Amino acid sequence: MSRIVYVNGEYLPEDQARVSIFDRGFLFADGVYEVTSVLDGKLIDFQGHAARLERSLGELDMAAPVTMDELLAIHRDLVKLNNVEEGMVYLQITRGAAADRDFVFPDPAATPSTLVMFTQSKGLIDSAAAKTGIKVISIDDIRWGRRDIKTVQLLYPSMGKMMAKKAGVDDAWMVEDGVVTEGTSNNAYIVKGGKIITRHLGTEILHGITRAAVLKMARESQMEVEERPFTIEEAKAADEAFVTSASTFVTPVVAIDGVALGDGTPGPVARRLREIYIDESRKAAL
Ligand code: PLP
Repeated sequence: MSRIVYVNGEYLPEDQARVSIFDRGFLFADGVYEVTSVLDGKLIDFQGHAARLERSLGELDMAAPVTMDELLAIHRDLVKLNNVEEGMVYLQITRGAAADRDFVFPDPAATPSTLVMFTQSKGLIDSAAAKTGIKVISIDDIRWGRRDIKTVQLLYPSMGKMMAKKAGVDDAWMVEDGVVTEGTSNNAYIVKGGKIITRHLGTEILHGITRAAVLKMARESQMEVEERPFTIEEAKAADEAFVTSASTFVTPVVAIDGVALGDGTPGPVARRLREIYIDESRKAAL
């Protein structure tokens, strides 16, 4: 069945949706995005994603084409129109299609931003990765310096996933100045002596919405959390590790660069946090 997608005010079958070849998202990766997960037909952490979207837009001096309330309504419409019980809603806003290719930003009064949204139906809770854990390799982090802005410049993360695939593993953790920044599409954590360690916020990493929720829930459950950089050697010597993202929740990491963590199976902290996160998010879903 063809999906119904959203493009600039219209709900259309996916094969009829069109964006101009002059769109700056296409020509310059001049756009931002969000991915919000859906459980039981409801949105998880919508407010967090909307707040980060507004921040990303503000940092790039880009206008939002609709209000955040309208955005929520479109999310809900798409979930309903496509009967999504479990999956994701993808949203992308670009600086629009100017009349020609020009590095200089167009006047927003003459060039409205482009808003595209679509759903992806996918089982998120019963994932194989959550059961067995994932294996990662470390790679250099050569991305630009404003990773706190959720832009659509995803070529290097995509290359990182390919490096992982070629190495026969699931994902890659990126390393800069000797310390782990984050995963290609997730935030990275290690656990040592019961303490959860994850890189502090800054411009070097994306401020994960799942990260914020999971750290809050961990602290509320009396778990110890330390936000600081850690090296890949420290990670390999950790008791366990995990990643978080909107679409994968909390997923255990069982090996780094071929070194098994603990007994090589998902650790108890990651398993517990996944359970807590799914339970709490379900209760608060919109
Ligand atoms: N870090 C990067 C580089 C990401 O691409 C993502 C998600 O796409 C995350 C972290 C996790 O962010 P969130 O929890 O908001 O999905």
